[in-house]
Amino acid sequence: MSLRGVGASQGVGHGPVFVLTAEVPEPPEGATYTGDADQEKARARAALDEVAGVLEGRGRQAGGAAEDVLNAQAMMARDPGLLVGVEALIDHGTAAERAVYEAFGRYRSMLVGTGGYMGERAADLDDVRDRTVALLTGHPMHGVPLDAPEPFVLVARDLAPADTALLSKEVVTAFVTERGGPTSHTAILARAMGVPAVVACAGATSLAPGTLVLVDGSTGEVRVGPTDAEVAGATGAEAARQEKLAAVRGPGRTADGHSVPLLANVGGPGDLDAALAHGAEGVGLFRTEFLFLGRKAAPTQDEQVAAYRPVLEAFPGATVVVRTLDAGADKPLAFLPAREREPNPALGERGLRMSRRFPEVLADQLAALERAVAGTAARLHVMAPMVATAEEAAWFTEACRTAGLAAAGVMIEIPAAAIRARDLAEHVDFFSIGTNDLAQYLFAADREMAELSALHDAWQPALLDLVAAAAGAGRPCGVCGEAAADPALACVLVGLGATALSMSASALPAVRAALAGHTTEQCRLAAAAARSAKDAATARQAARAHLPGLADLAL
Ligand code: PEP
Ligand code: MG
Repeated sequence: MSLRGVGASQGVGHGPVFVLTAEVPEPPEGATYTGDADQEKARARAALDEVAGVLEGRGRQAGGAAEDVLNAQAMMARDPGLLVGVEALIDHGTAAERAVYEAFGRYRSMLVGTGGYMGERAADLDDVRDRTVALLTGHPMHGVPLDAPEPFVLVARDLAPADTALLSKEVVTAFVTERGGPTSHTAILARAMGVPAVVACAGATSLAPGTLVLVDGSTGEVRVGPTDAEVAGATGAEAARQEKLAAVRGPGRTADGHSVPLLANVGGPGDLDAALAHGAEGVGLFRTEFLFLGRKAAPTQDEQVAAYRPVLEAFPGATVVVRTLDAGADKPLAFLPAREREPNPALGERGLRMSRRFPEVLADQLAALERAVAGTAARLHVMAPMVATAEEAAWFTEACRTAGLAAAGVMIEIPAAAIRARDLAEHVDFFSIGTNDLAQYLFAADREMAELSALHDAWQPALLDLVAAAAGAGRPCGVCGEAAADPALACVLVGLGATALSMSASALPAVRAALAGHTTEQCRLAAAAARSAKDAATARQAARAHLPGLADLAL
């Protein structure tokens, strides 16, 4: 038997399933206790304390951004106000588990009522509640096991960036989620880790824990109970493919020698080893907000310098494109809170809009970048996320110039910016196309929704039209969205005029080999064929007809 989802991070992984969604049942309403109130309160306190301790312990083990996220959760469990609420309910005869459940519920409504960042933390609060109730009722406590005896396939309804931040490829051999699209941030983090992933896989959480599965992150197939021969066949084929790809070395170029720098998308210094190992020629997208998820206060300039410098030092003489904080929507930062009412966060104040509301935070970040690059040999490029108009582009460039930064650019990830790219080009030094958000906004399709993944397909001809518009606007134009990681599409993007491609490090060998196997003319013909198609599937097929080298590489 097989389940089918959407391949979101290439590679093959297998192992027993660990299902993360074991939901903790709600303790029955009106549940009472038999002993005395003080004993019941002590039971509640002990459970909250244990949960806080576990979260803190995991934080210490994980370090970095994950530690901040987990410490913030531990503080919820240690909140004295919450404990007062729990104890008051116990005084009225409510059993500890129900008291915890209700007290957290009240606190939750208050948080959601305040909206914005605090509202976003409701899910973290639910997690603390479930852990505590699980302890009090003897229900198995869920959470990602960091000390499992053998590597496992992590199956979940969905994963928060904070969940994946704790994991390493030594522990998890593959991710399978029921929700999420191929451009969701979970998928991006999986690719950054180099762990195969399948998203939008219906029925995955119904798999019994411990079931052996074989996950193919390219085709999206999750084979249940594979035979030893099937596992050996799939892992052998994957190893052979990797070997073939790894044989193509050197900087990115087409078969006729046209140079296309191949850069890495990174979320912090932790991604550098993989970028260097896979031959990245620089960084095309440094998602700086990933460094500060879970932070309550804005990072100081010194902290930022310390975080940026290793990335700049890793690429002497090469381009490093740093994106200013892209906070908001699914990447909330406490120190850049959303407004009280923001009914559609993805359409709200995120990216550059947030920087305009908090210009001092942007000024600090630009100053930190200017300090971080001093004394290194990197060529620092700075770009803004979520830019819609020429006026915004001009404002950002002015802010960069004021900070003494030479190369200022913008991401093209809002359709208006692509359509009027020529207007924006007058104000910036370069563009970088973010195909993930560009598809989301072009098709009005939430990138986190698995049900809409067909609309996030970067082969959609309408999306290719916008890429062509931006790439033809007279500025160097990279692509840093996940589209660049698809070897066939990478050739099409080059055919459309992209001047550099940036992707998760693990995708670099396949893209390097695909480009090396085709001439610029073949890329152009493939691009024209794809744009002439009426839908994504036909576009892919039509382009591949001009890219015969892909089949030789098993791509
Ligand atoms: C994009 O939108 O394509 C992009 C690269 O930015 P992010 O995925 O971080 O939103
Ligand atoms: Mg984006």
